[in-house]
Parts: sequence; structure tokens; C-alpha cells
Amino acid sequence: MALTRRALLEQVGAVGGGAAVYLAMEALGLAIPTAAGAEKFELPRASGAGRSVVVLGAGIAGLVSAYELQRAGYRVTVLEARDRIGGRAWTIRGGGRIAQNGREDQRPAFSPGLYFNAGAARIPSTHRVILGYARKLGVTMEPFINVNRNAGWDFGGKVQPERRMINDMRGHLAELLAKAIDRKALDGIISADELTTVRQFLAPYAGVGANAVYAPGGSSGFAVEPGGYDQAPRVPPPLGFGELYPSGAVTLPYLFEHIWDMQSTMLQPVGGMDRIAEAIYARVKPSVRLGTPVRAIRRVGNRVRVEHGPRQLMTEADHCVCTLPAHLLERIPSDFSPAKKAALKNIRYLASVKAAFESPRFWEDEGIYGGLAWTDRANENLIYPPHDFGAPKGVLVAAYVSGWTNQDNPQKFAAFSDAERLRVCRESVEALHPGRSKLLENGVSVGWGLVPYSEGAGAQWGGGPGDIAPRGAQYAELLKPEGPIVFAGEHLSYQGLWQEGAALSAHAALKLVGTMAKAA
Ligand SMILES: Cc1cc2nc3c(=O)[nH]c(=O)nc-3n(C[C@H](O)[C@H](O)[C@H](O)COP(=O)(O)OP(=O)(O)OC[C@H]3O[C@@H](n4cnc5c(N)ncnc54)[C@H](O)[C@@H]3O)c2cc1C
Repeated sequence: MALTRRALLEQVGAVGGGAAVYLAMEALGLAIPTAAGAEKFELPRASGAGRSVVVLGAGIAGLVSAYELQRAGYRVTVLEARDRIGGRAWTIRGGGRIAQNGREDQRPAFSPGLYFNAGAARIPSTHRVILGYARKLGVTMEPFINVNRNAGWDFGGKVQPERRMINDMRGHLAELLAKAIDRKALDGIISADELTTVRQFLAPYAGVGANAVYAPGGSSGFAVEPGGYDQAPRVPPPLGFGELYPSGAVTLPYLFEHIWDMQSTMLQPVGGMDRIAEAIYARVKPSVRLGTPVRAIRRVGNRVRVEHGPRQLMTEADHCVCTLPAHLLERIPSDFSPAKKAALKNIRYLASVKAAFESPRFWEDEGIYGGLAWTDRANENLIYPPHDFGAPKGVLVAAYVSGWTNQDNPQKFAAFSDAERLRVCRESVEALHPGRSKLLENGVSVGWGLVPYSEGAGAQWGGGPGDIAPRGAQYAELLKPEGPIVFAGEHLSYQGLWQEGAALSAHAALKLVGTMAKAA
């Protein structure tokens, strides 16, 4: 019996999933060419003419999907449960509302012009797809200052400037290396010439000279700063290793700026992170139905039927792009395959918490312009506003708890009452900036594990966010379409807990839609 191309592809899809369909399409010469760079992504113009798609969720993955599908001529409907778009790219301003399951709503009272990026806040320059949308859609970007040597580190009950911790640590490690070389402990590990070169390099690199003793220069800061006339500078003695490493909690702050997606230059949209989501939304607004929670996902022949609120209504389409977070999708009735239902189980989401206050910019009096302070207290880190320097007030993020310094912190901090979270933050600010915590006002906190329609900051694969180890069978199953339904969202990317991951996964899902539409 002669197989039609469509029947063949359906059989391939049933056995091998969407990726196999795509490969088969390529073999048959039907697949759309892979874009040279993801930032250049575009479905063929008019390729969706006469086809309809229902997109579930209006976060970044859903909005990118809607935008690209619409450009390709598909008829698009986006169903979004909340009364706003953006999902985890959420910027809170005065007059908003913060809902957390089981708690009283908070009513942020920030002054006009101030905002708090409660979810996404920074974008590394390597995130070309999301930055590409920002540029294309006219969203003005500015630097996000991710590191500040003048900010404080509060560990083991002592506050030290970051510059002293970082530079003295480097000096001590270099001193150990110099001593090992001088005592010939490293002979034979690399050549004698290379050892000589390394030994010489330790002087400019870390202030370790011929005597193999670390002597701080100005990099660690000054006890007396260089001044006018006869005010010569004086450097403080180096901190001891015990002060530099009071506990394992301080490990990540030392590494932070070396992490691939935390390296300078980082960026943020002027005016709030939601500017990017809003810019995409502006292009697809008539297609988006807010306040429309998905209640069931069904297949009807080759098509999909989505049941949704506020009353039990239905939307049918040829295709569906489902961007709902996996642990929420698991609870939605569907006729997904047993394999998919099994794969949706037990996906853990990080219960990150952020808290913020409005305040006069007292940190700028101390020469702190943007950047992060770190602590072994439960609030983990502070983020100083990297914009509008010199303005009378700013929003100080006084907690961003994600397990940076202790992996138990997110659960612990999330369980605190809203008032208790703010109390911990105030104590931390007081330790870093004595006498200033009384200036903090209009505090709010967002425990992402309790936020309806998110219930978590991001999927935790293997070693958690940032884990790039290849994923196993469960992840592979989640990538497979269910007939006309394809899946996207940060959880289906190797850039999880980033908007970039959400956009990249959407692009991958849309290629599958394009393939299916072409085969139809
Ligand atoms: C605290 C925190 C810090 C972060 N920091 C950064 C950062 O600095 N930079 C960065 O780029 N990213 C950051 N991220 C990650 C980034 O925000 C997310 O990865 C990205 O926004 C996820 O997009 P998404 O479309 O996959 O999911 P979401 O944004 O969650 O979108 C899913 C959408 O589905 C909707 N939905 C859920 N259930 C239903 C239902 N039943 N019916 C209809 N709709 C439903 C939701 O309301 C939501 O709008 C951070 C996130 C958090 C929480």
C-alpha cells in the first residue's frame, strides 16, 4: 500500500515524536531550513495561511509564539489565566497587587516612576534572542550592574567590602601557589620554564613578589585613601583566610561574576523588565484573552480543543502551543499519552523569593551605584538599583533568595510571613548600612512558590538552575508533541530560569508547528 507523505509522517511521529518528524521532513525536503542564528528566527511568510493555533499562556514563550505565528499568517488565539501578560517577567509598580496563595494580598505603594522587577531583572549580553526582540521592537536597554566591588559582603557576622574579599582571597591563593613553586612541590607538573613564568606572573596578578608573601596593593582598598597634598594612602593588612572564608555560604559570591550568564555586560530594559513582554504584546494584543484559565486540553481528531474559564468555554484550533509551567500542566485534565502524563510528574520548581523597599538612595552616599551585596542571612543578597543614579529615591531589592548561599534558604524564607521576610531584610540592611534601615518604606515580598499560575520561579533539572548536564528520558518525553500540541517554556530549554530559555523553546516548538502545517 502506497503511503501518503502525511500518513508516513504521522507514523514517524507516533514512534519517534516531533524531533523524528522533523528529521523525516528534512529527509523528504519538506522541513523549513534552520535559521543560521536563533535571533534571526522567522517562520516562512504566509506559511500559516488558513491554519489556526491556540497558544496557552502569555508569558515570554507564549508571546513569542503568538508573535511569530501571526507573522507567518496563522490565526492565533492566546489564552492567559491572569489579568496581565508577562508571566514571570513581572514588574511591580505602585497601585498593583501581589497575590500569594493562602496570604493576604499586598498592595505595593511605590511612588510614581519606581518599579520592582519581582521576577526577571537582568539579561546577559549572550541572550541574543530576547535582546533581539527588544531591539527589533524598540525597547530601550540600559546596563544592569551585576557586580560592585564597593558593595558589602556580610558573612560570619562581619561586613567587608567585596573588593577586599575578592582581592585578598586571590592574594592568599597566589601566595600558596608561590610557596608551592618555590618549595619545588610542583616540579614536573608543568615545564620548568612554565613554572618560572607562572611564578613571575603572581607579582602583577596578585601582589606576590620574590618573598612569596602576599602584600596588598590598592586593589583591596585603603585604610587611608590617596588624598591631596601629603595624604599618602595606607593599605590595611590582608584579611586572614578564616575571615575570607568563614563558611561555605560565601562560595558563590566569589564565583558569581564568572558564571557564563552572569558576566558583564548585563542589560535591563529602561523602565522595567515587563517592557519587552509588553512590546511583543502590543503586536498581538487582539489575539490575547486575559482572565482565561485553561481547564482541560483535548484532542479532537487532528485538532485540539481547549476548555477554559471564566465559564466553561472552548477554543478549537489546528495546533496548540502549550507554554504552561510543567507542574501546573500536570494538574490540568488532558488526554495526553500515559508517557507524557508520567513525564509531567515530580518536576520540582524553585521557591525563590524577592523582597523590595522604596527608599532614599543612602547607598549612593556610600559610593554604591548598582550591583549586589551578599550575606549568609536568609535574604541572601541585595540588588541596588542600577539606573536613575542621583534620583531622590529608588527601589532596593533587599532579598533575592534562590539558594545562592544556602540551598535551604528558599523554602525557609518563603515560609516566613510577609512581615517576617521584611524584618529579616531590614536587619540585613542595618548590618550593611548602619542606621539606614529606618529609611526603608513600602516593603513588599513575592514568594514565587505561592504566586498563582506560577507556583515557582523555574524548573529544577538535575543540579538546579544553570545545570547544563544532558537531561534524561523524562525531559526528552516532555519535548515530544502530543499530536497537534507542541510544548514550550523555560522548563524546556537548557537556559532555564531565563527569558532566553522561554524564547528559545518557543522557537523550537514553532518549527514543529511549521513542519506539521506543511505536512497537513
Ligand atoms: C525570581 C525570578 C528571577 C528571575 N530572574 C531572571 C532574570 O534576571 N533574567 C531573565 O531573563 N529571566 C529571569 N527569570 C526567569 C524568567 O522570568 C522566566 O524563565 C520566563 O519569564 C518564563 O517564561 P515562560 O513563558 O516559560 O513562563 P511564564 O512566564 O510562567 O508564562 C506562563 C504563562 O502561563 C500562564 N498560565 C499558567 N497557568 C495557566 C492556565 N491554567 N491557563 C492559562 N494560563 C496559565 C501564566 O499566568 C503565565 O503568564 C526569573 C524568574 C524569577 C521567578
